[in-house]
Amino acid sequence: CISALADASPVHRHPPPNPAAPLAVELEDIHKSYGPLEVIKGVSLSAREGDVITLIGSSGSGKSTLLRCINLLEIPNSGAIRISGETIGLKTGRLGRTEPADHKQVERLRTRLGMVFQSFNLWSHMTILQNIIEAPVHVLGVPKAEAIDHARMLLDKVGILSKADSYPVQLSGGQQQRAAIARALAMQPKVMLFDEPTSALDPELVGEVLRVIRQLAEEGNTMVLVTHEMAFAREVSSEVVFLHQGRIEEQGHPDKVLTNPDSERVRQFLSRHL
Ligand code: ADP
Ligand code: MG
Repeated sequence: CISALADASPVHRHPPPNPAAPLAVELEDIHKSYGPLEVIKGVSLSAREGDVITLIGSSGSGKSTLLRCINLLEIPNSGAIRISGETIGLKTGRLGRTEPADHKQVERLRTRLGMVFQSFNLWSHMTILQNIIEAPVHVLGVPKAEAIDHARMLLDKVGILSKADSYPVQLSGGQQQRAAIARALAMQPKVMLFDEPTSALDPELVGEVLRVIRQLAEEGNTMVLVTHEMAFAREVSSEVVFLHQGRIEEQGHPDKVLTNPDSERVRQFLSRHL
C-alpha cells in the first residue's frame, strides 16, 4: 500500500457509473461449493461497460472464486452469468454436478474476457512477442503480421517494447506482469479480470504494474479486479465490493466503502490494510 501511495500520480477518480451503459458482466445469485464447503453464498453483481469493480475482503472470503466464476474457470453450482447480455448455459451433469451446456459457447465467451493472475503465467519457452501473438493467431485467426503489429503496440503501451524478443526469465516480475497484461489485451477483451496482479511482486515493482492498470481504467476499459492496494482501489474503482465469507457485506462508491463504511467488519479490515 505504501508503495502504491508513493507511486501514485495526481489523484484521479473514476467517473461515476453511467446507468445508460450496456451491461458487460452480470452475476445473479451465484453459489459455489467445493465439496461440502460453500464458499460463494448467493452473490449478485453487475458491471456496466466502463466500470471498474474492485473486490476486497480477507483471505478466504471468496474473491478469487467469484472472479473465476465470471470466466467459468470455476463452474457455479447455481445462479446465472451473463456476458454482454448473453447467458452462459449451464446444465446438471450425470453426477449431479453443474457443467456448461455448450463448451463451444464457454470457449467463445472466454476469449472476450482477459484474465491476469497473481503469478504471471507466461509461457517460458516463448519470447514475450510470441507469448502475445499466440492466442490472437491460433484462437482468433488474426494474420500473423497484423498480430505482431498489434503486439508491438501493446508492448509499447505497457512500456516493455524493448523486451519483445526476450524470454520471460530475462524479465523482472513487474515486466513479466506487464507482458501478461499485454497478452490479455491482445485478445481485445470486453472485460479484463485481475486477481491480485501485484501480490507476487517485490514492493518496488508494484507501482509500474498499477500504473498500467490505472491507464487502462482511465481509457474506459471494463475491469473486475481483486487487490489489497487500497489507495489504488480508491482511485480507480467505480464500485468497491467487500466480500465476507462468500457474501457481499458492503458495496458502493470507493469514497464511501473505503473511508466511511457502514459495516464494522469493513472498518476492521481497513484498519488492517490502510
Ligand atoms: P480469496 O481469493 O478471497 O482468498 P478464495 O476464493 O481463494 O478466497 O477461497 C475461498 C474459500 O474456498 C477458501 O476457504 C478456500 O480454501 C476455498 N477454496 C478455494 N479454491 C478451492 C479448491 N479448488 N478446492 C477446495 N477449496 C477451495
Ligand atoms: Mg484469492
